[in-house]
Amino acid sequence: MKLIIYSKALYSTWIYYSPDRILFDCGEGASTQLENKAFAIRHVFLSHGHADHISGLMGLINIRNNAMGDREKDLYIYFPAGNHFVSELIAYFARTNRRLRYHLEWVPLNPGDRVPLLKGRTPRYIEAFPTVHSQGEQSLGYNVVEVRRRLRPEFQQLSQQEIVKLVQEGRKDEITEEYAQKIFSYGGDSVPLRPATVAETEVLLHEATFLADEDRKEYKHATVWEAIEVAQRAQVKKELICFHISSRYRRELPKVEKKIASLGLPFKVTLIPPGEVVIRD
Ligand SMILES: [Zn+2]
Ligand SMILES: [Zn+2]
Repeated sequence: MKLIIYSKALYSTWIYYSPDRILFDCGEGASTQLENKAFAIRHVFLSHGHADHISGLMGLINIRNNAMGDREKDLYIYFPAGNHFVSELIAYFARTNRRLRYHLEWVPLNPGDRVPLLKGRTPRYIEAFPTVHSQGEQSLGYNVVEVRRRLRPEFQQLSQQEIVKLVQEGRKDEITEEYAQKIFSYGGDSVPLRPATVAETEVLLHEATFLADEDRKEYKHATVWEAIEVAQRAQVKKELICFHISSRYRRELPKVEKKIASLGLPFKVTLIPPGEVVIRD
């Protein structure tokens, strides 16, 4: 799962999720840093309308319009329905970008809405979930969900040979069942996420603006320890990635990483250093 992550609280946050060519949020500098990959983006999912998450849209929309050659691909931008700041931005783009050379579509989403990504043997979709951030401003998180098949419990004792035989007899649907596996969850800016919304996800991106509860003046963001607690309660399978870390903590991160390592958690924890582009394969 290739990811490119940039996140510094108050300044800019954007995450490029390569498997499905998705940009989660589009803070300042996204297209500048992504360069050619900015043309590959198919979908942008905005968590909310604060400047540090949307200020890169002007660059992204513009660069895709001005590039030479066969680079005119549709772009879909999804946002929390009724979000005031995003609505203002849409009106601005409607006035100033009348002659786009590609199809740009703004799609409002509500919690629970799904956006299909991939058809075929293992379909994937995005599901929006509610988050709590700023009062009076709608905000959303997003799960990438893969529809997989597994043996029904009553057939789990069968040998490989017996399974193959039943499948050859055309009884695959009888012995297997579909289930939805969250493979990636992005919470955007939020106080601690409700664990149920990201339950058993493989990789969770949870914001961790603060290291210490005392530093938090208003209850709008989470701490790194709250993010870990959410991941534990949600039974995250592989990794917790903490982003949106305030730059005031830059020097303290190695110490915090050590402390986290001593907890012996069943998943990996990664802290995104504020102000660095992190590329993950
Ligand atoms: Zn933010
Ligand atoms: Zn915010």
